[in-house]
Amino acid sequence: MKEEQSVKNVLITGASRGIGRATAIAFAHAGYRVCINYHLHRAEAEELAAYLRADGAAAEVLQADVADAVAVREMVAQAGEVDVLVNNAGIAGQRLFTDVTEDEWQRMLAVNLTGLFHCAQAVLPGMIHRKKGKIIALSSIWGITGGSCEVAYSAAKAGVIGLVRSLAKEVGPSNIQVNCVAPGVIDTDMNRVLSVADRVALCEETPLMRMGTPEDVARSILFFAGPGGDFITGQVLSPNGGFVI
Ligand code: NAP
Repeated sequence: MKEEQSVKNVLITGASRGIGRATAIAFAHAGYRVCINYHLHRAEAEELAAYLRADGAAAEVLQADVADAVAVREMVAQAGEVDVLVNNAGIAGQRLFTDVTEDEWQRMLAVNLTGLFHCAQAVLPGMIHRKKGKIIALSSIWGITGGSCEVAYSAAKAGVIGLVRSLAKEVGPSNIQVNCVAPGVIDTDMNRVLSVADRVALCEETPLMRMGTPEDVARSILFFAGPGGDFITGQVLSPNGGFVI
């Protein structure tokens, strides 16, 4: 019989910054080997890997645009056996629906939704073969409630929830859990475009009276990956401070 693998391997897309970075640190502290995917910010990804290695963790840096199926397949081949996929890479953008161009619409869906299709398709054959694996995808509260001036983003994130629920049913018999984390407003680069007044208003609308931190979200992701997530699949957990109840 094959020996039980001792160190688990997590692939986190979009781990050079924000929620992905905090998630990489959380998984490293939990004893995982961490594969850090980035798209454009190589220096940040390398710096994170060096920080994790200095702390005794195993960390690899893997470049890929998740919208590119070939690049994703190469990345997954380099990652080795992936026990946990955290599909986190994402882009956002505020615009009136009537101003959204065809290219903007296509790119929003390509990164946020098709990126999940590419990454999940690339890791699943190995997971199905081993009859074990966890996929955790990042959606958003806007994928649940809909967001004004974020129609393309909200549509993509709603699609993530639909994909997660359907895939959970399909691969459950192979002992693979597929879940979704749908954060509220989190203090990362993604929200640096907001004015001070908008940030204050968002905090006032949130029962817990603050924006979330990347670490708040990382803890939800780690929960799904750990034994607490073993009998949970097709679910959406929303760390949002009570913004959506
Ligand atoms: P962020 O700070 O803007 O970081 C985005 C990350 O995604 C970066 O590491 C970036 O890599 C990577 N990325 C972007 N496009 C990519 C591509 N085509 N291929 C591979 N990687 C790509 O964003 P964040 O706030 O941490 O958000 C992380 C996830 O949580 C996203 O899916 C987002 O939609 C979701 N979310 C965020 C919030 C929030 O309030 N922040 C709320 C709900 C959901 P490079 O920097 O190397 O290009």
